[in-house]
Amino acid sequence: MSEHSHYIPPLADMAFVLEHWLNAPADWQRMPAFAALDADTARMVCEAAGDFCAGQLAPLNSSGDLQGCTLQAGQVRTPDGFAAAYQAYVQAGWPALACDASVGGQGLPGLLDAVLNEMIASSNHAWAMYLGIMHGAYACLHAHASAELQAQYLPKLVSGEWLATMCLTEPQAGSDLGLLRTQAQPAEDGSYRISGNKILISGGEQDLTDNIVHLVLARLPDAPAGTKGISLFLVPKKIPQADASWVPNTVYCDGIEKKMGIKGSATCAMRFESAQGWLIGQPHRGLAAMFIMMNSARLHVGLQGVGHAETAYQLALAYARERQQMRAVVRPAGATGAADAIVHHPAVRRILWDLRVWTQGMRALGYWCGHVIDLAAHAPDADERARAQALAALLTPIVKSLFTERGFQLASDALQVFGGYGYVHEYRIEQIVRDSRIAMIYEGTNQIQAADLLQRKVLASPDGLAPLLEAWRAEAALPSAHAATLQAWCDRLAQATQALAEDAAHDAELPARAAEDYLRLVGTVALAFAWCRAARVADPATHADKHDSARYCFDYVLPHAEHWLRLVQAARHRVAPL
Ligand SMILES: Cc1cc2nc3c(=O)[nH]c(=O)nc-3n(C[C@H](O)[C@H](O)[C@H](O)COP(=O)(O)OP(=O)(O)OC[C@H]3O[C@@H](n4cnc5c(N)ncnc54)[C@H](O)[C@@H]3O)c2cc1C
Repeated sequence: MSEHSHYIPPLADMAFVLEHWLNAPADWQRMPAFAALDADTARMVCEAAGDFCAGQLAPLNSSGDLQGCTLQAGQVRTPDGFAAAYQAYVQAGWPALACDASVGGQGLPGLLDAVLNEMIASSNHAWAMYLGIMHGAYACLHAHASAELQAQYLPKLVSGEWLATMCLTEPQAGSDLGLLRTQAQPAEDGSYRISGNKILISGGEQDLTDNIVHLVLARLPDAPAGTKGISLFLVPKKIPQADASWVPNTVYCDGIEKKMGIKGSATCAMRFESAQGWLIGQPHRGLAAMFIMMNSARLHVGLQGVGHAETAYQLALAYARERQQMRAVVRPAGATGAADAIVHHPAVRRILWDLRVWTQGMRALGYWCGHVIDLAAHAPDADERARAQALAALLTPIVKSLFTERGFQLASDALQVFGGYGYVHEYRIEQIVRDSRIAMIYEGTNQIQAADLLQRKVLASPDGLAPLLEAWRAEAALPSAHAATLQAWCDRLAQATQALAEDAAHDAELPARAAEDYLRLVGTVALAFAWCRAARVADPATHADKHDSARYCFDYVLPHAEHWLRLVQAARHRVAPL
């Protein structure tokens, strides 16, 4: 392990977001499910999660990247230490954190699970992949599986004894799941026989758990074509029997991918050969059953971007304080030597400020998304639940898409701080650049997220963006240093959205051309909102840094919104076919 491999959990900033920016403890008091939770307990949970991630996962990040996974006779071997770290994770009870107490969970808010997930991604993204969909699988089975299946599988997932996978992608079916071909034949005993090939399946085979619960999308014989003919099946690697023994299922791992990053995560080609499976939810309604896992899964992928940006910031800042090159124009007090630390050169300092302001701003927005997902499920009042659901629907694609794009770009900016050393493995930053890239692709590519935001949500109704604008205008109405600028940007965003809707009426392709830049525009204004509120709620005596960061956001980051706005307007021009 290199001396540069530390991860320091950003607990103070996390507490600031939970307690001041969100004021989450007050909302927990109002929700019967979380009424027993207070700020002190939440802090203790975050501290313990940070200890686990920094102590157990971060030290395996670089070695896992170098060693990677191997496949022999259908068995995957994960990097040294991964399985032991997973056992420690299970023994500490982390898988059960945000699961319902009725099935052995700890019943804590999904928001705290989001905090945990950010730290896991920060310290070891490859390891994080093995538990990536555990919570989603739990939520999906909890909502849609029969009582018998729930009794058999939920306790094992909640305890972490078994892990789950999500088997969607096939060679010819990626973003368009309507093209998938895997077949499900009804069997006489009420179960199904699943046959087909899935590719790029994270953790399709691994050596962390005895059993693996695959959630597989497949077509029944009478399925209509397209996405309306897809059903969801539970297909275990080993089929549990009534006497606690098990029989192997006909599910095989045919290969693992050599890939750019997250090398410690086994990305598997899976073959289902008339494997026994059980239907989850209604026939042909598999996508609807899966949607329940989408919001939290996409939030967690977005938080991977925050996690990467956080680690990149920590590494780059530490390096910039040590590395000496040339005298700075404004030298630090008492400097007499031939060179100053590069942190004193404004070009480097600007990169570090970008990293800090984006990372902490995204954290606030990401936790806001996690909190509104909790409110959508648990707020006592039906109107409040509906408002929270509307906000979550808009925030989720922004969090997934913008944060993963920024996570990758900020990691690359941080690499620049290291000069040539940044390109060398020992300094760890090149691994973050490679690892972070995948988050822009999986869990719905960033283009698909952008289309979801603009086409499916914002333009689907005359005031599709209203839930976000209302929240931001409410903040802008409170007295604070940056309120007037935020208000002006809300107006410009509303006008740009209105113009898009009008132009789209006679140019059907326009929204698809504008979607990505529109998402970046909305996301940049969202960041301004995050810092406007941070500056308002931060006590200057204890959180002076928040006021500096807010000023930096409005001076240097928000001007990018001008650029995205111009590109959204430019989308009026048709692009010639290639
Ligand atoms: C490391 C890794 C782990 C993965 N883990 C899993 C997993 O556990 N389970 C699983 O099921 N899958 C997994 N995947 C697969 C992943 O979800 C898909 O790669 C992703 O959904 C994109 O599908 P595709 O690769 O077929 O690309 P395509 O769908 O072929 O897309 C190619 C390009 O076209 C764009 N595009 C396609 N359609 C549109 C459109 N309508 N509008 C705008 N742009 C469009 C896409 O954005 C992309 O840029 C994983 C992939 C990787 C690399």
